[in-house]
Amino acid sequence: MPEHFDLVIIGTGAGGGTLAYALRESGLRILLVERGDFLPQEPQNWQPVEVFDRRRYKPDETWYGADGSPFHPGVHYFVGGNTKVYGAALPRLRAQDFGALEHEGGTSPAWPITYDELEPYYARAEQIYAVHGAPGEDPTEPPRSGPFPYPAVPHEPYIDDLCARLHKQGLHPFHYPMGIDLREGGRCIRCKTCDGFPCQVLAKSESDVNCVRPALESPAITLWTNTLARRLVTDETGKRVVGVELERGGEHLTVHAERFVVACGAVNSALLLMRSANDRHPGGLANSSGLLGRNYMVHNNTALMAVDPFRRNPTVFQKTLAVNDFYFKGANFAYPMGNIQMLGKLQAGMLTAAQPLVPKPILQGMADRSVDWWVMSEDLPDSHNRVELAPNGKVIVHWKPNNLVAHRKLVDAARKMMREAGYQFVFVQPMGIDTNSHQCGTARFGVDPATSVLDPYCRTHDIENLYVVDSSFFPSSAAMNPALTIAAQALRVAEKLAA
Ligand SMILES: Cc1cc2nc3c(=O)[nH]c(=O)nc-3n(C[C@H](O)[C@H](O)[C@H](O)COP(=O)(O)OP(=O)(O)OC[C@H]3O[C@@H](n4cnc5c(N)ncnc54)[C@H](O)[C@@H]3O)c2cc1C
Repeated sequence: MPEHFDLVIIGTGAGGGTLAYALRESGLRILLVERGDFLPQEPQNWQPVEVFDRRRYKPDETWYGADGSPFHPGVHYFVGGNTKVYGAALPRLRAQDFGALEHEGGTSPAWPITYDELEPYYARAEQIYAVHGAPGEDPTEPPRSGPFPYPAVPHEPYIDDLCARLHKQGLHPFHYPMGIDLREGGRCIRCKTCDGFPCQVLAKSESDVNCVRPALESPAITLWTNTLARRLVTDETGKRVVGVELERGGEHLTVHAERFVVACGAVNSALLLMRSANDRHPGGLANSSGLLGRNYMVHNNTALMAVDPFRRNPTVFQKTLAVNDFYFKGANFAYPMGNIQMLGKLQAGMLTAAQPLVPKPILQGMADRSVDWWVMSEDLPDSHNRVELAPNGKVIVHWKPNNLVAHRKLVDAARKMMREAGYQFVFVQPMGIDTNSHQCGTARFGVDPATSVLDPYCRTHDIENLYVVDSSFFPSSAAMNPALTIAAQALRVAEKLAA
């Protein structure tokens, strides 16, 4: 078994998987390291009780809040990472998200690259992830160099009707860009177990299916599953990483390479670099700025159920529509508020974990008559919100949500929107520390080594052959789903690495 590679990529999610795919014909000999296995295709993939109540696909892992309270993080350790269960909503950020934006709660900082610089990579990422969408419906949409690869996923009749009701209010509901295999002869059967579930028929555009498996067709790419990266080792100068210590099948081994990419997700990437601390890097690798693990963001998220007790919602595939009318401001609010997007159709079994005291038939009755939304606002980088590795190895997440006025305004706007659309009851459930699906920011990129961990190509400022290519690089969280942006930046970094 070779133990020297040109490149080692640790993690196979949206960042690592896309990077491997982009480099599959680069001539580089690449080792992909993944702590998990391929997620099994099994009936339980689509069973709410298994997925939500029994947490079948989540690790038995406990992290702690700053006050010491334990929680189980919403992470997934499989080939494909969190994209195995994601909702496959694949929008681009708005062009303005790349500049500094004033929010009610503070400033959302500018990125070191512009939207125009990332646009060609967005276009490629949309091809790779087979994105379906309809241009021209969303007033906040950034300019595109070409059409969406596939036409929008059509609304089902009930959602079409809701869309018309929203139009009547002067809003601009639009088909949300989605990565599912609805191509001619495609695998997608439009079931209701997409958002939040693994896809049993592999019809979601995930890093596993769309990137890792095709990448493995190249003899230059090797994948080691069930292999945990424990530590990166530098040379004596501390200027180069020379190896990664791995745990594989109960054995410990060190793999050497010319270059290393950490792509473990925003929390685990920061932790790996912290665990790799040595004499030259006492605060963790690539941490001369002191910013590693800081500026952790996850969005402000609220689930909203709008219920019309007199009308059943027969929709099966609900996640087709979004509203961005409040993205940059509201009717009486001059600051950005965020994005409102449909959730996959809620089922009683998905609600029992959050509402264990409510009898299941009542939850089922509500779910049968509800329309379900994810209300999402930008949270701002705050260096006090951070990931900490305690001396005893415990993972501590310091998280104090901010920019909450904007989020409350958005939830109110969503509530009003749905009341006016004819829904008598609106229930909201704010998300807590364990909803870290959109985690980002723990190794922000920038041009100044004093104020960022990574350069604009995600190379660490401190260590010339070490990169972090996952959601860690985000300097701001914007208020759109992150995966397409992670993938686009991975494609941009791949060009640099191949050169
Ligand atoms: C329920 C849910 C729904 C979501 N819906 C959407 C959506 O609709 N649209 C969207 O854009 N985003 C969505 N997201 C978020 C999206 O999935 C993530 O933003 C994205 O996957 C992050 O990519 P990443 O590369 O940063 O990390 P991940 O995808 O988390 O990948 C990290 C990988 O690293 C591996 N790893 C971690 N530590 C180690 C280690 N020490 N050694 C070896 N391997 C390691 C993990 O097993 C994993 O495979 C959702 C997430 C969840 C959980």
